[in-house]
Amino acid sequence: MEIIHVSAECYPVAKAGGLGDVVGALPKYQCKAGHIAKVVMPMYRTKFLYENEWTVDFKGSANLGNWYFDYTIIKEATNKLGFDLFLVDINGLLDRQKIYGYDDDSERFTAFQIATVSWMSSWEHQPDIVHCHDHHTGLIPFMMQYCYDFARLNRVPTVFTIHNAQYQGWMGWDKSRYIPRWDLWKRGMMDWADNINPLASGVKCASKVTTVSWSYMDELRYNSNGLEKLFEYERGKCVGILNGIDNEVWNPANDQYLSEHFSVKDVAKGKQKNKEALCKQFSLDPEKPLFVFIGRLVGEKAADILPDAVMSSIHNTQGNANFLILGSGDTNVEWQFQQMVEPFKGMFNAVIGYDETLSHIMYAGADFLLMPSRVEPCGLNQMYAMRYGTVPIVRSTGGLQDTVVDMGDPDGFGIRFNNASIFDVDYSIGRAVAVYQDKTQMEKMRKHMMQIDHSWESTVDQYTEVYAGLG
Ligand code: ADP
Repeated sequence: MEIIHVSAECYPVAKAGGLGDVVGALPKYQCKAGHIAKVVMPMYRTKFLYENEWTVDFKGSANLGNWYFDYTIIKEATNKLGFDLFLVDINGLLDRQKIYGYDDDSERFTAFQIATVSWMSSWEHQPDIVHCHDHHTGLIPFMMQYCYDFARLNRVPTVFTIHNAQYQGWMGWDKSRYIPRWDLWKRGMMDWADNINPLASGVKCASKVTTVSWSYMDELRYNSNGLEKLFEYERGKCVGILNGIDNEVWNPANDQYLSEHFSVKDVAKGKQKNKEALCKQFSLDPEKPLFVFIGRLVGEKAADILPDAVMSSIHNTQGNANFLILGSGDTNVEWQFQQMVEPFKGMFNAVIGYDETLSHIMYAGADFLLMPSRVEPCGLNQMYAMRYGTVPIVRSTGGLQDTVVDMGDPDGFGIRFNNASIFDVDYSIGRAVAVYQDKTQMEKMRKHMMQIDHSWESTVDQYTEVYAGLG
């Protein structure tokens, strides 16, 4: 099967979160399983672009409303990622360093989608599946079906995967002029609550909709930032498929970012070495349990309660725990963490920013990973933590609920709680500090979770089944 993934992110080209990890791994494992999977994404000006070889694959032009633009499609020349990677260049819109966060993001991603569909409709053959990811590509199923210029593609099945339904790409109807000539009777297929809603449009128009865990699929019908009724109505074509992790990138035995490697056999020793290096770097105490948080400092991740929860735990454990934070986002939360560094020196530290290398070292060196998320469609961090023998402490929601078993249950290896509250986080940290003293139990949990199979190999088959049902 030829599968064209279209996405705003793909690791290691450009990544802001889990979307990047998934689109960097799923196509690779689909190719290994015998499919022809390809990725199309915007040509941001990232390091990966400058450090690799490219060939020009296509040059075309299209319209964004009255604006006539040229686009160029370049292809990575060496199959470095294990799949064909195509970047779409549009001068003035996509030639930026960051992925998101510009005032003209609507224009940027709409033009990207138009260029991608326009390019695909120029092919002599047709792909078997066009697989779109999140709202940045949510208008593609609409365009393929209802834009007159792309009529050649209107029978190609589309799959739309929701990695995060909180962001929907809303645009006013005045921007409908951007969409190339379309069947005006189909206005409702782009509309939600009197706006153009690319995420809702993807759900309405795609042949099949998937999201990244079973529990999140259920939750969307009750909590999806205004789209609850849509998910209820469309439930027949929606399916939850738990994300995998790329075991080649995330492997403590040969992780390129670690200087001390370890496996399930020497986990205690290996983790301690990584922890010592980490504690030295951040003035922490390697004898005490190390709790880390890695992620976006936003409300979805309940980052707002973390500063108080950490201070409360430092107090309640009488300083018998270390904390290290890596993340960026809400400036107020960033500020609070920065203010805590000096007064809690020796037991707390924070790195405000994005650091791929440090994140790997933290998964390896930490004893516990905190994830109090209010919303967590799948969550990859807890799966990386498990692979590195780090006990996840998670709120029971979305993919966290589907992947973490509380240590009080048979074969449990993690800590779960119900509320994104200071009390619940603090209480759970108390449980963790207690179990940390029990070396036998810690060893048992680490070994158990490191051997859980979250590889893409098993997940790929579930996507193949979805595609096969659309042929
Ligand atoms: P989301 O996509 O909602 O941000 P996920 O758990 O699905 O959350 O994926 C987060 C990914 O981003 C993980 O690979 C995590 O390690 C990485 N990540 C998040 N924040 C940072 C950061 N500040 N530095 C390095 N990696 C980060």
